[in-house]
Amino acid sequence: MPNSPGFRSIGHWINGQIFDPASSRRQLVWNPATGAPQANVLLASEHDVDDAVAAAAKAFPAWRATPLSKRAESMFRLRELIDKNRHHIASILTSEHGKTLADAGGEVARGLENIEFACGAPQLLKGGYTEQASTGVDVHQIRQPLGVVVGITPFNFPTMVPMWMFANALACGNTFVLKPSERDPSVSLLLAELIQQAGFPDGVFNVVQGDKVAVDRLLNHPDVKAISFVGSTPVARSIYETATRNGKRVQALGGAKNHMVVLPDADIDMAADAAISAAYGSAGERCMAISVVVAVGDAAEPLMTAIRARIPNIKIGPGDAVGSEMGPLITREHRDRVAAYLDTAKQEGADVVVDGREDAAYLKEGFFLGCSLIDGVRPGMRCFDDEIFGPVLGVARVNSYDEALKLINDNPYGNGTAIFTRDGGVARQFQFDVQVGMVGINVPIPVPVAYYSFGGWKASLFGDLHMYGPEGIQFYTRSKLVTSRWPDPSTSRVDLGFPEVR
Ligand code: NAD
Repeated sequence: MPNSPGFRSIGHWINGQIFDPASSRRQLVWNPATGAPQANVLLASEHDVDDAVAAAAKAFPAWRATPLSKRAESMFRLRELIDKNRHHIASILTSEHGKTLADAGGEVARGLENIEFACGAPQLLKGGYTEQASTGVDVHQIRQPLGVVVGITPFNFPTMVPMWMFANALACGNTFVLKPSERDPSVSLLLAELIQQAGFPDGVFNVVQGDKVAVDRLLNHPDVKAISFVGSTPVARSIYETATRNGKRVQALGGAKNHMVVLPDADIDMAADAAISAAYGSAGERCMAISVVVAVGDAAEPLMTAIRARIPNIKIGPGDAVGSEMGPLITREHRDRVAAYLDTAKQEGADVVVDGREDAAYLKEGFFLGCSLIDGVRPGMRCFDDEIFGPVLGVARVNSYDEALKLINDNPYGNGTAIFTRDGGVARQFQFDVQVGMVGINVPIPVPVAYYSFGGWKASLFGDLHMYGPEGIQFYTRSKLVTSRWPDPSTSRVDLGFPEVR
């Protein structure tokens, strides 16, 4: 029980060890499948944050001076350790987030891609060299780490999103402070242990658990050089504004509303399978989830029929139960907030075709909501405009490709989108026209592989650089240009003119 002495406590990880001050504020961590509290997570004070940043700052000079091949070696060992522990990691994710074990395994696999990419740091950090830029003058460029960098991460990918950040950050020679979501914090400590086992020195990777108090201190700490954030749009915007004002480098990825266009020539069964998978996978708690299908012309009726027919077949249950395809939502409050959209949708004139509250799972102990389907959604309705972040799929009916495109381009978010068609020309036009950062052509969740970079447009990303991949390397380093010559001192003379190429 929460107040009993044996109740599990989830602490910080500072300078290579667990830090669990008795005086800390705490918050309950739930098991979403049972609705029961399972641990207390510490909420860092400003002082705790200062300790973590101090540990990272102390470790930085030696870590940045460590030969690149040694840093890469540690990254290779980490890759092996995470691979060996992938089922253990997945089970922690399932117990705190609620996603199915298979989905959690997929999260670990996609995160691991980023560790594998970072193993190539010696190649990725190569600079450039120009011989004879001027007579006897050479120019070379190097990339150097920033110092202490921070990752602030959301609840929906407690392993993958930290890996998006720390893999490249550490490989580039930075030291790192992770502030995970307080709703599913345990896996951050297992990652810290594996990072230590892989041979990264103490202080190179630290974890502070916490809420706004910890985040605000990180945004204001003078020794923090860069902030990577992933979470909802209002928080992303405010973090970007505060941290840039404080002179920090920032990439802040925000929320999303992802539309999937289905043209009349599309294979309707394939489109329905994709819509169902992308809308209800992970109970819709993915920033790349499809939340609105935009059905063009004659596609609408058969598509609605096909989607509706598939919904009763989805097995809803605890993420670790055999056969479960969709687990619970993260908390009871979030589940109730999502469910309330079904009422506002009705009030606003949309047609709630399937109400997830009528599913038997809704009555269970955990934070379950059945798959929900709303027909006739359009701009101006809250169920169309807001990011719902749950298993609620809207269908907007439009008459033409142009109307579908306008609906997407007028939307304030621009994270992901998809088009389903058999017409390559229209798909290519869509790729050219659409104002969204990541586009799928007959692919509903186009999350880029780790050797490209991930990022949306508009209110889905604040900052210039996308996350992970080549842009991640750019984010975690700064460029230094060196111009050199080795002249015969006897040729030296005073010249007050601006240096030109000679
Ligand atoms: P959130 O914004 O509530 O929390 C994200 C992080 O910010 C957490 O670590 C949290 O502790 C911290 N935080 C929350 N409120 C804060 C505040 N007022 N001040 C300072 N820090 C605060 O997001 P969430 O609910 O954990 O995650 C879901 C959201 O994340 C969705 O909007 C989803 O679209 C988005 N997301 C985006 C991406 C992307 O790549 N664009 C990926 C995953 C999730």
